[in-house]
Formats: sequence, C-alpha cells, structure tokens
Amino acid sequence: MGQGIGRQGIGNQDAGNQDIGNQDAWDQFVVCARRRCTPIAFQNWLAPIELLDSDGAELVLLVPNVFVKEYLLDNYNEELRTFLPLDATGQPAIRFVVDSRTRPEPSRAQTSSASPVLAHTESEETALVPGLRLNQSYRFDTFIEGPSNQFVKSATVGIAKRPGRSYNPLFIHGGVGLGKTHLLHSVGHYVRDQHKRLRVQCVTTEAFINDLVDNLRNKSIDRWKRFYRTLDVLLVDDIQFLQNRLNFEEEFCNTFEALINQHKQIIVTSDKPPGQLKLSERMVARMEWGLVAHIGVPDLETRVAILQHKADQKGIRIPTEVAFLIGEHMSSNVRQLEGALNRLSAQARLFNVPITAELATETLRDLFVAPIQARVTVDQILKAVASIFEMRLADLKGPGRTKEVALARQVAMFLAKELLTDSLQSIGTAFGKTHSTVLHAHKTVAQKMAEDERLRRQISMVRRHLGQSA
Ligand code: ADP
Ligand code: MG
Repeated sequence: MGQGIGRQGIGNQDAGNQDIGNQDAWDQFVVCARRRCTPIAFQNWLAPIELLDSDGAELVLLVPNVFVKEYLLDNYNEELRTFLPLDATGQPAIRFVVDSRTRPEPSRAQTSSASPVLAHTESEETALVPGLRLNQSYRFDTFIEGPSNQFVKSATVGIAKRPGRSYNPLFIHGGVGLGKTHLLHSVGHYVRDQHKRLRVQCVTTEAFINDLVDNLRNKSIDRWKRFYRTLDVLLVDDIQFLQNRLNFEEEFCNTFEALINQHKQIIVTSDKPPGQLKLSERMVARMEWGLVAHIGVPDLETRVAILQHKADQKGIRIPTEVAFLIGEHMSSNVRQLEGALNRLSAQARLFNVPITAELATETLRDLFVAPIQARVTVDQILKAVASIFEMRLADLKGPGRTKEVALARQVAMFLAKELLTDSLQSIGTAFGKTHSTVLHAHKTVAQKMAEDERLRRQISMVRRHLGQSA
C-alpha cells in the first residue's frame, strides 16, 4: 500500500473539475480532505487508498476493504463531487476495486477512532464490526419537508424520540436519492446525541453481510451475534441487497427477531416495498410487522427549497429563477440536484462569473432531461401503482378480480391514458385489454376521484412517484 494517497502530489485546490486531468483532480481532493480530518483518521481511512488508473472517464481506486469505500463516499461526498469528474447521475465517477489481499483484516483501529458510541464496549466485546459512522450533514434539521416525505419524516422523528415504543420495525421504501439514507442517519445522530445510554448501529446491508463473513472467517461469530443482538437501535440501509443472498437472509432474520422480541428498534430502508422484494416469506412478513412507509419524489416547491437549502449550506448564492430552472428540469432525484449545484458553482468559480439562468442551461445541459412525460412506460406506471396501492406487481398484472386489485388496475389504465402519448389501442394492448376497457377505466376513475379524497391522494402520489407533477 506504499503509494497510497498520502504520497500524491499537491495541486491547485481552487480549480473546478472540468478541464483538469484525473490525477490532478485526485491530488486536489487529497489535499482538501487531509485538511479536513485528523491525522489519525487520515492514516486509518484515506492513506490506504491507491489511485490505480486515472486515464479513463472514471478514476479507479484500490481500497483495502469495503468500509474504506463507504467511509470515503459517506464522509467526503461533497469534496469528491467538487474535485472529481462526475458521471451522468451527478455522482463522482469512481470505480472501486477492493484489494482481496487485505480483506480479512478489518480495522479495529478504525473502529475505535470513529466510534464514540461503541468504544466503551470494545475492550470486552471485540467483535469485528465497524463503528457507528454517520454522514455529518444527514440530520433532521437539514432535511426539507414536503408532501412527498412529511409522513416518513414524522415517523422517523417519533422513533428517534422514543425508540422501540412506536412503529417497529419501520420500513421506508422509495426511489434512489429521495432521502432514505438521510433520514436513517438523522435517527442515528439523534439517538446518539439524545439517548446516550442506548447502543445504536447503522449499517448498509452490504456492510452487514461483509461483517458477518469476516466474523465467520475469524471464528468470532458468537461475539458478533452478541454485539448485534444487544443493540437498542439497529438502522439498516438498502435491504434490497439481501435479495439472492440466501445464507445471510436467515442470519438477518434471526437478528431481526431477537431485537424485535426485546422491543429494540429497527428501521430498514429499501428501494421497493417488502412485497416486491425477492426475499423469503418469513423475511417479508417480518418487514411488514410494523409500519411500511413510502417516500416519494418531492414536488417542485420542495425541490427548489432543497436546492436553496443546499446552496446556503455551501455558501453559494443562487437566484430563485435559477433554482426553479434546475428544479423544473431535474425532477426525479434529489442527489442529482446537489450534483447540478456543485457543478454549477464549480463552473462559476472557474470562470469567475455569476450564477445565472444562462450559465445553468449551458453547464447543466446534459443533466437536463427531456420532459419526463414522454419517457414514462406502462411498466413504470404499473410498478408505481403497485407500490402506492401496496400490492404485488404480479397481482396487479395477474387475473385476480378482488375489488382492490381491480381498482388499482383501473388507476394504472387511467394514468396510462393521461400520461402516455400512445393510442388507446396500443395502451389497451399493453394491458392485455381492449381500447374500450381503457376508456371505461378512465371514466370510472375520473368519476371516483371527484368524490374520493383518498383516491385523489393516492393517484397524485403515483404521479409524483413517476416524476410527474400532480
Ligand atoms: P436515498 O438513500 O433515498 O437514495 P439519500 O438519503 O442518499 O437518498 O439522499 C440523496 C441526497 O439528497 C443526500 O445528499 C440528501 O441529503 C439529499 N436529500 C434528499 N432528500 C432531501 C430533503 N428532503 N432535504 C434535504 N436533502 C435531501
Ligand atoms: Mg441510500
């Protein structure tokens, strides 16, 4: 690991990320990151990273284990995006290679420096688990509320105040970049700060599985189990990565049950509702035990508020007109909004010009998508309807005729007619129906909407889910 990042040269820190080589961009990031953290943290986490390849469109980084990768992405995301080239989704263009030679040695040194909550248990319980690592900026007070996320936000606040006493488990699902991890970490911060005696752990499903493997290999599985099963609050991010990992599903389920039975709090996030995950029935049933809550795409006003809040945090002044321009063109993912803001401010700094609508259009042209209307498909509509109406996609597509399924199916046809430019004929074909069935469904739903407030809300949630304004 000799030529880790500690050795890289020093570049000019203020340049943006457009016209400079990847090696330089990386050097600049290192200089900036080194200033931001303690020498020990630098030594433990950043110095072992090697830049393997800087020539292509992306940087290839060799990391000793997956924790280092996560640490880097969680804690230096802003800096990475400021200095490194970005990919199409506005994320730093990095490919990680995990160095298999060093995998079996996950870092106890790392745990102690980054783990105030767990530190006091270390001497007796030396299970190989990473410490509590939370993104510093993912807190309740930096989370902007809007109709699409209000419910989930108040559920998480309620849980953070009284863990294990209200909804348990809480299952949060929704698309990429909509704030699931943000809220999960907010609970972690709150519990750590306000309930100092409670033991809280926040892990990605990937890290959970990797820890399990490491502990199996190191024959420390009993200590590992003891560690997880004596937590007060367990926060698990991206449970969809448990799909197709049969061996681990059972262990996860056992841990889960052990905790729930002792009224310990669990929150799980996922990109799909429980019923759409390819997991065992036992696991799905456990996930549905408590509260299942959906987080949707924020509406335009909320997107603009988020943008302005992020700009404030970074000390960037962004005219309202520009915030609306970006919010209107980038509707499906909050992370992209941030990426756009970073790119725009880097560009303005690089050329020393003010941020205007013109500069935004010029700089962000490739991120601005064509109006989403044209891109919605019948399949996406069906998926969104299944998710909001909380049923399996297979049921929605299948022959079943229960009242709920029939209504949801009609809603899907209603939305297809509203949102697609296709002919009634071809919409009918996509649903395996005739064009007159589609027309009938449309009329029925329109009538029901007029008198059914709940249905109206559900439909507007589906629209938001699809990135459409309601
Ligand atoms: P997810 O886990 O759902 O993919 P994240 O929680 O990682 O999404 O959010 C992506 C980015 O968007 C983060 O930087 C997060 O802070 C930001 N974000 C998402 N929703 C909001 C919100 N309502 N208010 C402020 N920031 C948000
Ligand atoms: Mg996430």
